[in-house]
Amino acid sequence: MSPSKVSTIVFDKFYNIVDGQLRDTKDTPHHGVNPVTGQELWDVPVASKQDLEDAVAAANKAFVSWSQTSIEERKELLGKWVAVYAQHRDDFINLLIKETGKPRKFATVEVDGVTQFAGFHTTLTIPEERIEDDEKVITTRYTPLGVVGAICPWNFPLILSMGKIAPALLTGNTIIVKPSPFTPYTSLKMVETMQEVFPPGVVQVVGGNNDLGAWLSLHPNVHKISFTGSIATGKKVMEAAAKTLKRVTLELGGNDASIILPDVDIKKTAPEIVMGAFQNSGQVCVATKRIYIHEAIYTDFVAEMAAFAKSIKLGGGDDQPDDILLGPIQNKMQYDKVKTFFQDSKAKGYKFAAGSPDATDSALPQKGFFITPTIIDNPPNDSRIIAEEPFGPIVPTQPWSDEEEVIARANNTNTGLGACVWGADVDRAERIARRLQAGSVFVNSWEKPTPQAIFGGHKESGIGGEWGQTGLLSYCNPHVIHSYKLKL
Ligand code: NAD
Repeated sequence: MSPSKVSTIVFDKFYNIVDGQLRDTKDTPHHGVNPVTGQELWDVPVASKQDLEDAVAAANKAFVSWSQTSIEERKELLGKWVAVYAQHRDDFINLLIKETGKPRKFATVEVDGVTQFAGFHTTLTIPEERIEDDEKVITTRYTPLGVVGAICPWNFPLILSMGKIAPALLTGNTIIVKPSPFTPYTSLKMVETMQEVFPPGVVQVVGGNNDLGAWLSLHPNVHKISFTGSIATGKKVMEAAAKTLKRVTLELGGNDASIILPDVDIKKTAPEIVMGAFQNSGQVCVATKRIYIHEAIYTDFVAEMAAFAKSIKLGGGDDQPDDILLGPIQNKMQYDKVKTFFQDSKAKGYKFAAGSPDATDSALPQKGFFITPTIIDNPPNDSRIIAEEPFGPIVPTQPWSDEEEVIARANNTNTGLGACVWGADVDRAERIARRLQAGSVFVNSWEKPTPQAIFGGHKESGIGGEWGQTGLLSYCNPHVIHSYKLKL
């Protein structure tokens, strides 16, 4: 089908995509829940073991010819798909709002981010290295791995799927996407639109629960798992993948520190720090999760943060004012988990600089999984709110005075995904940034990952990384030809 035609894809019926075909399951449908209203959304299929077998067989079959296409052809198809996707921009925004509860403004950013992500990948090249001496020429190329299984979380269902699809396809791999059972809709639909452009079996999607992720990780004919999700599940994926020594990229949880130097502009910086912590209602792997403020400005800075946090409007749904900044927690399981951090902080008697010890208040929308943005003022180092990732809109602040000590405190965690340093003295901020044990450190900005650079975690935040030119190599095997010169 020509991508210039207006597509007939509908946004209220959802299918698995196996070998270019729409596939339904009648016996075991599943549905998501709109977190703004609590209402059930449409039925989606749950893939059976046979569906997965068929998808893996189709992906291996498609790999034979797809891996032989040139990178220019793959880029061209990715570009054509961007045109198809653009025709459905509003449909994807509306669907993402329903499945995640994101405010329209941020659902739009995610939907448009997919276009930018795909577009950026069409500017990349796969490196080739050549070494020549008197007796030989050595050429190192990077060849595709085979079939990639992409296991995705629920917090950014579209962009995190695209973050795997774009590099996998560009490098000549085929890919099977498994979305989170909490947010299957946009991923199923995005891969459906891809069938208008890509040959059957090149990009497929199977909806299903955690068992399906485990089957994919174990499957002997899947050659890599790119997993984004929790540390606990990441460890299970690695264990399963070890059985066939398949490659893994693990993008896992974090507990990012933000260090605030004494020379910042308090009024400008405090709201930024709040947004770094509470963007997407705190459901971001690289959200700021611990805030270290220099003691000289601590009281004023926390007061400014609290004033901004209290001014944030929460809401969501189809009809929402433009000034909504935060939506609900995406699902009931996570909602209940976040509330345990409130219960713990309340029980221990910690000081609430903003927010509510009960996690909610009367100003919140009455339905849905909403939580009041909350700041805990100076809890102890061994508190749960400092030591663990809440993945919700609750964040601790602590004062610091000694640079070495605060660097040690920031690094005192088993995770190492992101970090931030804020200060007018940029040299000092960058000097501190270089000492922080995290994959991506931001100076004078909150965490804003971009397809331009590799993204990955240190320590238990992950293994490897993807995105950017360097990230492409995680989808490749090095392949070296040593060609000896014939002696005449
Ligand atoms: P999760 O680990 O519960 O689930 C992630 C995916 O794994 C889902 O698709 C799930 O169905 C699947 N899964 C569950 N059990 C499995 C198993 N045994 N084998 C294979 N797959 C299995 O994570 P979540 O709750 O969806 O996401 C939130 C977590 O993800 C947070 O910890 C967050 O920090 C992390 N995260 C990390 C990044 C990153 O890039 N580093 C990005 C977003 C989220």
